[in-house]
Amino acid sequence: MKHSAAARGSLRVVGLGPGDDALITDQVRASIAAATDAFGYFPYIERLQGLGHLQLHASDNREELDRARAALDLAAQGRQVLMLSSGDPGVFAMASAVFEVLEGAAPEQRQRWAAVDVEVQPGITAMLAAAARLGAPLGHDFCCINLSDNLKPAAVIERRIRLAAQADFAMAFYNPCSKSRPQGFSRALQVLQQECEPERLICFARNVSRPDETLNVVTLATAAPAMADMRTVVIVGNSLTRRVGPHVYTPRSYPHA
Ligand code: SAH
Repeated sequence: MKHSAAARGSLRVVGLGPGDDALITDQVRASIAAATDAFGYFPYIERLQGLGHLQLHASDNREELDRARAALDLAAQGRQVLMLSSGDPGVFAMASAVFEVLEGAAPEQRQRWAAVDVEVQPGITAMLAAAARLGAPLGHDFCCINLSDNLKPAAVIERRIRLAAQADFAMAFYNPCSKSRPQGFSRALQVLQQECEPERLICFARNVSRPDETLNVVTLATAAPAMADMRTVVIVGNSLTRRVGPHVYTPRSYPHA
């Protein structure tokens, strides 16, 4: 049977930005308004509480693949389904989980899900929101590393930090620690302290764009593991990053060898 356009289900994988509703894009707002169902980790679902037209499906943050399957199944029935992430859905979030599930689909799932219109819609990721609040610490080449060792070996994380420091990238760290890794950030800090000069600027941006936002800029010599928690994104400058008034910035130009 052919699906009519009206009956075709959709899965919109969207990012709600770092916290302030003003940082939700108009495109994502339109998708929220048009949706029938929303899936996501509890705190993200909470942000849509009170929108009566939506059926909400909250789940724990360790259940990403099951959540993606359930959302695809519902969309295959012709529903307009949202998959929520914070920030941007493609940055350490649900978009990859959806494609992982699509890639690993059994033949009967593949057939069912083929009719679903899947679209990823960008959001403002924590690193960019934090960088804007600080000034322009990511104004030159930078990289972005997830410090969680849930899905990759700790040795890979350490190697990436070390090589990024040697290549003089500015860096943004997501998930600096978690309940299961309370000391997670101390190893990253040790590696940075081995590779960079003590005056290097390091910025701790917590709960960016929320009422309890805090920004803390220190040097590597005075940085401590306790300055980062799971609600913090950490930005490490490159060797040229400096302060200008209350701001931190990285110049666009780089000395020629
Ligand atoms: N998809 C999200 C990232 C999810 S990983 C995004 O694009 O932003 C979760 C990590 O993101 C947290 O551990 C923290 O490092 C960072 N983070 C998310 N929201 C934040 C905020 N408002 N302020 C500071 N860091 C935040």
